Amino acid sequence: MELDRKCPSCGGTMIFKPGWDSLVCNLCGHKELIQELVSKNPVVEMDFLSAQNTASHDWGMETKVVQCKMCGAQTIQNKLQLSGLCPFCGSNAIDQADPSQDIMAPNGIIPFKITEQRAYYIFKDWLKDRFLAPELLSENAQLNKFYGIYIPLYTFDVLTLNRYTGHYDENRRTLFKCGKFQYQVDDFPVVASKQLASDKLLLNVVRDYWTKEAKPYTPEVMAGFPCEHYSIGLHEAWNSTGPGIRMLLEEQARSQTKSSYLMGIEMATDYFDLKYKYLIVPIWLNSFVYDNKLYTIVINGQTGKIDGQWPKSFGTFAKKTALFFLGSFMG
Ligand SMILES: [Zn+2]
Ligand SMILES: [Zn+2]
Repeated sequence: MELDRKCPSCGGTMIFKPGWDSLVCNLCGHKELIQELVSKNPVVEMDFLSAQNTASHDWGMETKVVQCKMCGAQTIQNKLQLSGLCPFCGSNAIDQADPSQDIMAPNGIIPFKITEQRAYYIFKDWLKDRFLAPELLSENAQLNKFYGIYIPLYTFDVLTLNRYTGHYDENRRTLFKCGKFQYQVDDFPVVASKQLASDKLLLNVVRDYWTKEAKPYTPEVMAGFPCEHYSIGLHEAWNSTGPGIRMLLEEQARSQTKSSYLMGIEMATDYFDLKYKYLIVPIWLNSFVYDNKLYTIVINGQTGKIDGQWPKSFGTFAKKTALFFLGSFMG
């Protein structure tokens, strides 16, 4: 996303430079440190119950929402930006979406640490471990360029009070156990991107952020990078945390019965003081088409963790290879 930010020495365009915490001029290299990113100020935890009234809608710039006609992804851009390609599928069929949408602004950001060049090295390394990958990519698939984009991530803090019962086996006898405990859930992450949340592999990458390193939101970090529009609302996101938080709490209950494995846990939980942060976090995206299907590769723009979708069936390809080998024996 281009900010209307011009270089003071040459008038060139200033864009955010991953790993530098700075805006850099694309013509003369003039550098400006972004104060918010080097400050020690924490991201404010927002009160969930009053979110409707307190959530900011101010992005610090004039924004527009564009929608991809191929895959449906919506991205938020600076109003002055000319829409390019869809970062999710590479399509150039981009449309301006409903301009009346009122989009909640993030209150925190994790800036890009991984550069585009580093993303390529990580990707190349990853390819080495993929069966038939180089041949597959060179012969049959069209690999796109890496796109840097911010995606929306909520984190939740909540104090839980729990009472539980369960049973465990000891000396061939079943014993019952009950107990109670308090547990503070801290920065439980929910990805607000439906484009990415449907795939377990990708989800592991986009949940891998060190959220404690988030900084207060500032629009400068979006100079050169668009942001995906959240497709999962705050309430829907909180409602989806049930199974994940339950797993954390069962772990706590089990840790109270150290010698044996606690089973059949029943638990009643009260939640207090629910708080959230709405962060935008960086990813590098790449996609390729193979056999008319779109596959996506994601690199965490902060930690460098990579994963991706990969064709599961190499049917036609393996057959072709087999024929090739057969041919070379016969010939
Ligand atoms: Zn300049
Ligand atoms: Zn698309």
